[in-house]
Amino acid sequence: MEKQSLLSLFSSNPDKYYKVSLFDEKGFKRQNCKLCGKFFWSIIDKKSCPEHDNYSFIGDPPTSKRLDFVNTWKELSSFFRKNDHEVIQRYPVVCRWREDLYFTIASIVDFQRVMNGKIVFEIPKNPLVVPQMCLRFNDIENVGLTGRHYTSFCMVGQTCNADAPGGYWKDKCIDLDHSLLKDVLGIKSEEITFVEDVWMGAGAFGNSLEYYVRGLELGNAVFTEFEGDEHNYRTLDNKIIDMGAGLERLSWITMGTPTSYDATFGPVFKKLVDIIGIDIDSKAEFLSRYFRIFSENYSNYQNDPRILKTNIAKELGLSYEALEKIVLPFETLSIIADHTRTLLFGISDGSLPSNVGGGYNLRIILRRTLALLARFGWNLNLEDIMDLHIEQLKSMYPELKEHKNDVRTIIQIESDRYSSSKERMYSIANSVLMSKKRPGVEDLIRMYESDGITPDLLLETGVIEKIPPDFYLKLAELHTSHESKQIPVIETVSGLNPTRLLYYEDGSIREFDAKILKVLEGKYLILDKTAFYPRGGGQEPDFGSIEGIKVTDVIKQNEIVLHKVQVPSKDHFLENKIVHGIVDNVRRRSITKNHSATHILNSAARNSLGSWVWQNSAFKDEHYARLDITHHSALTKQEINQIERTANEVVQRNLPIMINVFERSNAEEKYTFRIYQGGAVPSNNVRIVNIEGWDVEACGGTHVNKTGEIGLIKILKTERIQDGVVRLEYVSGNNAFQYVQSQDSQLLHIAQSLGSSKEKVIESFDKVTVENDLIKRKFKMLVNRFSDNMAAIVSQKATKSKSGLKIYGIYDDEIGDDYYIALGEKSIDIDPFLVYVALIQDQERIKIIVFVGEESRKIIKASRIAKEISLKLGGTGGGGTDKFAQGGGKDKSKIHDCLKNLENLLTDILDSSEKNG
Ligand SMILES: [Zn+2]
Ligand SMILES: [Zn+2]
Repeated sequence: MEKQSLLSLFSSNPDKYYKVSLFDEKGFKRQNCKLCGKFFWSIIDKKSCPEHDNYSFIGDPPTSKRLDFVNTWKELSSFFRKNDHEVIQRYPVVCRWREDLYFTIASIVDFQRVMNGKIVFEIPKNPLVVPQMCLRFNDIENVGLTGRHYTSFCMVGQTCNADAPGGYWKDKCIDLDHSLLKDVLGIKSEEITFVEDVWMGAGAFGNSLEYYVRGLELGNAVFTEFEGDEHNYRTLDNKIIDMGAGLERLSWITMGTPTSYDATFGPVFKKLVDIIGIDIDSKAEFLSRYFRIFSENYSNYQNDPRILKTNIAKELGLSYEALEKIVLPFETLSIIADHTRTLLFGISDGSLPSNVGGGYNLRIILRRTLALLARFGWNLNLEDIMDLHIEQLKSMYPELKEHKNDVRTIIQIESDRYSSSKERMYSIANSVLMSKKRPGVEDLIRMYESDGITPDLLLETGVIEKIPPDFYLKLAELHTSHESKQIPVIETVSGLNPTRLLYYEDGSIREFDAKILKVLEGKYLILDKTAFYPRGGGQEPDFGSIEGIKVTDVIKQNEIVLHKVQVPSKDHFLENKIVHGIVDNVRRRSITKNHSATHILNSAARNSLGSWVWQNSAFKDEHYARLDITHHSALTKQEINQIERTANEVVQRNLPIMINVFERSNAEEKYTFRIYQGGAVPSNNVRIVNIEGWDVEACGGTHVNKTGEIGLIKILKTERIQDGVVRLEYVSGNNAFQYVQSQDSQLLHIAQSLGSSKEKVIESFDKVTVENDLIKRKFKMLVNRFSDNMAAIVSQKATKSKSGLKIYGIYDDEIGDDYYIALGEKSIDIDPFLVYVALIQDQERIKIIVFVGEESRKIIKASRIAKEISLKLGGTGGGGTDKFAQGGGKDKSKIHDCLKNLENLLTDILDSSEKNG
C-alpha cells in the first residue's frame, strides 16, 4: 500500500474524511501548501503548511500559561478526566506483550496484541488517556543537538474504540484536542493548523489530522477506519481513535525555552548545572537565538549539522570554536539528562544493559553517557542523576521509586565494568592514533562491537575529529535487523477439527480411547482427542504407547496434535479405527515436577537477585531441566544456595497451584505483564498458573496440584551462558533424590579410598593434601640435589658438533618434567656451550624441553629449536625465550629419529638463519 495513493483517496473527498464540525463552527478553511502541496485547515489564510513555519514560540510562547513537564500532564489529565476519560497508568516501556518489539514505541502499542499475524486492539477503558513513556533508538545522535529529539519521551495517548460504549469519532476528538490547546493551554484558535495525512499498519488504515502551532507539531489524531488496501477495503467493526501528543512538546510551547529539554528536564538541569558549575542562565538569550535558527534549518543539514553550525556561527558573528564553547556543554547536559531518564525507565521495567536484544541499546547510551562525563570531566554519577528524575516525576510515575535500588545496582555494575575495561580501551585508541589511519564508520562500529570503545572516547583521545552523524543509527540498525523478532504467522492444517486436549480437561488421565482421524507419512497419528502432552512452551512431550506401539514424539501444529509412532509397516494404523493410548506416567510426573519447579525457581531467583530477573527461556525434560534467566553476572555460591533454599521452602510450604483461564486483558490487569515469562500469548484467553502467594505465569504446561508433591529441588550447575543471561540446571522429585544418593555414594567412595569415613572425609582430605604438599616439596629438594650431580654427567656425555655446539638429547617416560627442567637449568649453568633437549612422555603428549647455554645462545635460540622439534613430532609449535623454551608433539614414532638426528636439525636451523641474515 502506497502512502501517496491513500492520501489521494482521502484528499479526493475531504468533506467526508477530513472535515470535522469544528472546522465549520470556527471557520477553519481548507488550503493547499504552495511549497509542498499538502492540504491543511486554518482560520487565517496561509501560503504554506506549518512544516515551513519558524519556531517563533522560542522566546515568545503563544500560551497564557507556563507549564513545566509535570504540570502540563496535570492540566491535561484533569481536562480529559472532566471530559469523561479514564486516566490510566502507563504500561511498561519493555514491551512484553508483543514478540516483534523490544520496547513500547508509541502509546497505541499498549493496546495492540498480535493474533494470527494480525494486530488486534484491546482498550481496557473507553475512552482513555495514558501518559505513555516510549523508547526509540533511531535518533540517538540527534539528542541534544536539535533541541527536540529524545531516546525516551512521553506520548500522551487519547484512545478510544468509536463503536464501543463511551466511544466517539472524529468530530468529538478534534473538538477535544482544539479545546485542550485553546482552553487548557491558552493558545488562540488562529494559531492552530490541522494538516491532512494518512496512517497505515498491520492491514488497517485511516486518515489523520496533525495539529501544529508555530511550526511545532504537537499531536496527531489517527482515525483507524478501514481494513484491506486502497483498492479493496471495508469499514472496521471497531474503529479506533489513536491521538498521540508529545508531552515534551506541549510543555515546550508553553515555556518558549531555547530547547524542549529546558522545559522537560527543568528541575534536573538546575541541580546538575549547580553541581558542575557551568553558567547557562547568562547565555539563555544567546542559546534561544542559536537553537531557533538551528531547529528551523536543521532539516536541510541532517547529513552534516557541522555545516549548519558553521553558518550560524557566521550569522551570530562568532568563530566556530567560540560557538561550540557555549553550545557544547548545554548539548551534552541534554544528552546526559535524556539518556539517564531512558535508562531509568528501561531498567526499572526489567531490561538489562547487555550485548543482546533490546538491552543493546541501553548499553550504548549508558556507555555514551559515561564517556561524555569523562570527556567533560564532570563529577556526576548516574545514580544521582536518576534520583533527580525520580524526584521530578514522582507525582506522574510514583512506581519509579519501587525499583530505585535495583536500578542503582545495575548502573553500578555496568559503570564498574566500563571503567575496568577503560585502560584497555585507551591503549587500543592510542595504537590507532599512532597508526595515523583515520577510522571510518565501519571501523568505529567494529571497535564498539569488539572492545566497547565509544566514539566519544575516540574523540577525547583525538583519534577522530567528529563522530560520524550516522554512527549510532547504523549501530542500532545492526541490532534491530539481526535480532528483531518476527510476527508469527500461523499456517492452518485444513479439513480437520482441533484435537480435544484431554490433558487440560483432567491432568490425571493416563489412558484413553480415541479415533484415528488421519495418518501422515505412515507414522504420524492424528486422533480426535488425546491425553499426550505435545512438545511446547519448553516442556518436552509425553511418551507412551498407542495400541502397544511406542509413541516416540508428540508435536502440535496449530490446533492439531501429531503422535509419532514406531510402526512396523506403513499401513499399520488405519483411519477411523478406535485405538487405546497409554501415557508413560513416570515420565509425565517427572516432567511435570520439573515444570512446576521451574516456576518456583524463577520467582526464587527474582526474589534473591533482583527485579531484573526474567525467564529468558526454559527446558523441561524427564531427568533434566534448565532455566535461563536475565541477570548481569555469574552467580556466586551464596546466591545459588539462597535460590535453592528459597525454592525448597516453597516446596515445603505445600502451596496450592491453581490453573484458571482468564480473558487476556483481565489477566494483564490482575497480574501485570509479569505473567509473560514465557513470551506473549497470541490468544484471547490466557491460561494462568498461579502458585498461590508466590508466582503467577501464563503457561500451557502441566503442573502438580501442590508444591509439596515436588519433594525436592536440587540445582546441579549454573553458568553465565551469554552477556546478561545465566543458566540454572536442576532436577526435582525422584531425580533430585537419586542425585543426592549418587553424590552420597561418590562421597563414600572417596572416604573409603582415603581410609576414612564420610563424617571425617574433609578432615582426611585436608590431611592428605598437606601430606601431598610435603611429598612434593621433598621431591623438589631431591631433584635439586640429584640434578647437581647429574648436570656434570650431562656436560660430559654431550657430543660436540662442527659448529661448536655441545648437544645433549634424552627421552624419558617415567620421571616427569620437573626433574628435567631442573636438570637442564643446572647443566647449562655449568656448561655455557650446551644445547639441552629433553623429550618427556606425558600421557598422550610428548613434552619438549630445550635449554641453551650462554655461549651457544649467541648463534641459536631455544625457542626456535623447540618449534622445529615440535613440528617434527607432529605438533603445532612451541614458545619461550632464547635460553629456555617448551613445545609439544604427539607422534611417538618420531622420537627416536629426532634425538638421533639432533645435530642435523640444529645445523639446518643455523644454515637457515645464516641465509636469512
Ligand atoms: Zn508544505
Ligand atoms: Zn510454565
